[in-house]
Amino acid sequence: MTELSALSAVPSGARDAVLKFYFGPMDCGKSTLALQMNYNHARQGRRGLVLTKHDRSGGPRVTSRIGLGRDAIEVEDSLDLVRLVTSYGQVDYLICDEACFYRVEQIEQLADLVDEHGVDVYAFGLASDFRSVMFPAAQRLFELADEVCRLQVEVLCWCGRPGQLNARVVGGVLVRTGEQVVIGDTGDAPVRYQVLCRRHHRSGELGEGTPAAR
Ligand SMILES: [Zn+2]
Repeated sequence: MTELSALSAVPSGARDAVLKFYFGPMDCGKSTLALQMNYNHARQGRRGLVLTKHDRSGGPRVTSRIGLGRDAIEVEDSLDLVRLVTSYGQVDYLICDEACFYRVEQIEQLADLVDEHGVDVYAFGLASDFRSVMFPAAQRLFELADEVCRLQVEVLCWCGRPGQLNARVVGGVLVRTGEQVVIGDTGDAPVRYQVLCRRHHRSGELGEGTPAAR
């Protein structure tokens, strides 16, 4: 009989799978943490898939602002995540970057994968949009996740206060109406996003000489 100790491998089936949601504003290191999490699990021989939607690279990749990156599966609106994962055979965990942009049904599919298929799901994303209103997928994650974590890497507004909100800036002006998801440029008005504190998100002051966020 194998002697168990604190260093023994965890027997499979010894615990329930988990759904965790890590959220924070732009630039707080979500994609970096997603890639680190994938590395840590893969290194222990666990089999995982990396998913994303609307990555900053414009392609099916998870890329971080500090230069890391890897290929990923793009979560199209029509993608059934349960069918996707079960088609791969044994999958131990999922890394779901930009989960705020998934459809609500797809978040429910993630919960199915946790409960019915024993897959650990680590989701990363924004909580709220440029109006400071929660994304529907993020709301569903708050409702369903076993654990919700606000990422601690602090992003600062130009004034030095903690940045909590993502502002959409069109032609140099903060806008408060429009489509919930706008990636990159639209038409001839360049769109960018900037993290602001609540006070400056409300006032619309963007600061002087703030480097343009992508
Ligand atoms: Zn501020």
